[in-house]
Amino acid sequence: MLCPYCKADDDKVVDSRGSEGGSGIRRRRECLKCGRRFTSYERLEEIPVMVLKRNGSRERFDLQKVLNSVKIACRKRPVSQEQIQDLATRVEIQALSSENREISSRIIGDSIISELEQLDAVALVRFSSVYREYSDVDQFVDYIRTLKKVKGQG
Ligand SMILES: [Zn+2]
Repeated sequence: MLCPYCKADDDKVVDSRGSEGGSGIRRRRECLKCGRRFTSYERLEEIPVMVLKRNGSRERFDLQKVLNSVKIACRKRPVSQEQIQDLATRVEIQALSSENREISSRIIGDSIISELEQLDAVALVRFSSVYREYSDVDQFVDYIRTLKKVKGQG
C-alpha cells in the first residue's frame, strides 16, 4: 500500500481489526521508509478465507476468535493488549495469504502456539493443553466459558 506521506510502497501492518458490520478491515500501517503511520480500510469483497476444521466442516476465518482465545490464555499474565493484537494480526495475515483461501484449524492453532512460545510460558501451557484436546480455537473458547460458568455457580 502506498504511503500517503512519502509514496513509498513499503509498509507493515501494526494493527488490524474488523470494521463495524464486519464488511471490512481497518488496518494501521507503518511506513518502513518514513516511519509515519496511516490507516487503510479494505473491503472484504474478495473470497473469504475458510477454516477447515478437524471434523471436516468449514467456517469463515474469524479474527475475533483468535483474539479471544489468546486473551483468555494470557489472562493475568505480563502480556500487553498490543502484543496480543500483533500476534493475532500475524495469524490473520497467514490465513489471508493461504493457498486457495483455505487454512486448516490445526495450522492456526500451531501458529498461535509458536507465537505464545515467544511470549509467555504459562499462556503457552494454558493454550496448548486445552488446544491439543479440543483441536479448535472456538472450542477452546467454549471450554473456558463452561469453566467460568461452573465456577460462577459454585
Ligand atoms: Zn512514508
